[in-house]
Amino acid sequence: MQYVSTRSGTVHSSASQSFSEILLGGLAPDGGLYLPAEYPQVTGEELSAWRKLSYADLAFEILKKFATDIPAADLKAITRKTYTAAVYRNARAGDDASQITPLHVLDEQLGRGGGKTLMLQALSNGPTLAFKDMAMQLLGNLFEYTLSKNNAELNIFGATSGDTGSAAEYAMRGKKGIRVFMLSPHKKMSAFQSAQMFSLQDPNIFNIAIVGVFDDCQDMVKAVSNDLEFKVRQKIGTVNSINWARVVAQVVYYFRGYLLATTSNDQKVSFTVPSGNFGNICAGHIARMMGLPIDKLIAATNENDVLDEFFRTGVYRVRKSAETYHTSSPSMDISKASNFERFIFDLLDRDGDRVRALFQKVETHGGFDLSGKPGSDGDEFVKIAQYGFLSGKSTHQDRLDTIREVQDEYDITIDTHTADGVKVAREHVAPGVPMIVLETALAAKFNETILEALGTDAERPAGFENIEDLPQHFEVMPADVELVKVFIAKHTGL
Ligand SMILES: *Cc1c(COP(=O)(O)O)cnc(C)c1O
Repeated sequence: MQYVSTRSGTVHSSASQSFSEILLGGLAPDGGLYLPAEYPQVTGEELSAWRKLSYADLAFEILKKFATDIPAADLKAITRKTYTAAVYRNARAGDDASQITPLHVLDEQLGRGGGKTLMLQALSNGPTLAFKDMAMQLLGNLFEYTLSKNNAELNIFGATSGDTGSAAEYAMRGKKGIRVFMLSPHKKMSAFQSAQMFSLQDPNIFNIAIVGVFDDCQDMVKAVSNDLEFKVRQKIGTVNSINWARVVAQVVYYFRGYLLATTSNDQKVSFTVPSGNFGNICAGHIARMMGLPIDKLIAATNENDVLDEFFRTGVYRVRKSAETYHTSSPSMDISKASNFERFIFDLLDRDGDRVRALFQKVETHGGFDLSGKPGSDGDEFVKIAQYGFLSGKSTHQDRLDTIREVQDEYDITIDTHTADGVKVAREHVAPGVPMIVLETALAAKFNETILEALGTDAERPAGFENIEDLPQHFEVMPADVELVKVFIAKHTGL
């Protein structure tokens, strides 16, 4: 399996790479994102056989179609080490942790007429209580495997406002050949989020709290990645949401959700996905392109509705910092959707030249328009329905109402991001097609809003009771990239 850039699009271009080659990298050299030269297809026979598999072995079957340059036995060992009940131990009471992503039927009679089924697929039972563990835990093991094979080392440098940084640190802690340097805005994360990251005592994890806001942290990461000499000498890598291995790891749970919700392959399901950078739902698109019988893929956004606007109008308009709201579903507070280019590449029949032009226009004009109206950049909006995409948006008040309703009606506490999903899913659920909402975090992570909605604290999984009281380990620094570079060099010795 070869990979191509969304800005070139042909296998014969110099950008064409194998899975292991793109594993540790970020953007393609031409500024595009990597996608397989063609999507591997899944047959009905395979799908039927996969109904009996454990999550780990299902992950192996899917990944081996993409990671063709990793020996099968090694890949199987990696998936079996990653997807265990011990790693995904934070399942709700009554759930079977060995299911990894247990499925809950919330309602089989929605809308009184009946036949409308609403389900919740729990993706947040990993170490940091958010779905990013699903991919990041695999990435940690894949990185360690690849690095040890080449006797190499890697220093991961990134910025986080919460979920990504902690998922990366819990995936990379104690891994041979890997260090993590993670910037976060000093005193701007929730007490729970900082405690999760800063209580790690592993010598390969370095938390740097920057006196500033998240944008300052991100600017520093950009400055370092533009300093090629430093980047190469310090063996700097990233694990941001455009990483291809993260996307492909997420494809697995769409298959899993489908197989758990159906009994035969002629049934269809729909998914509603709380969306920010379009990484999670992009994996759903890929599962669908592989032949998984998905009816609708519904992007749920919060007040930061870049994606909802696109799927309603065909206009992609990125937001300025001042137009990006801080909401109570903060992991979806994005100004542009960094994985969106992957879907646009398919929507434009893989025309890399047009994709390049459109995303250059995002830089120069803040967006593009595929509505087909006079003066627009194309008329592909009419084709979106063929890909099953729909969307909806949710506000703070919707989150409070939905958290309360789901608690009252189904006796389950959901987090704020999942609440955005449930709110939008209810607007789109159709008779005879199970609607699966992806649960992207556990409520304990966003307790402030749970308290506001329910008047009581969210339940904390075992082991998290006193996390804020644990000793914390972090360095406070001004927003000065030179100081951060000195810090990195001192600890890598490179
Ligand atoms: C990251 C995140 C999202 C958004 O996922 P994308 O892949 O960026 O669309 C949604 N919910 C939670 C809890 C997250 O951490």
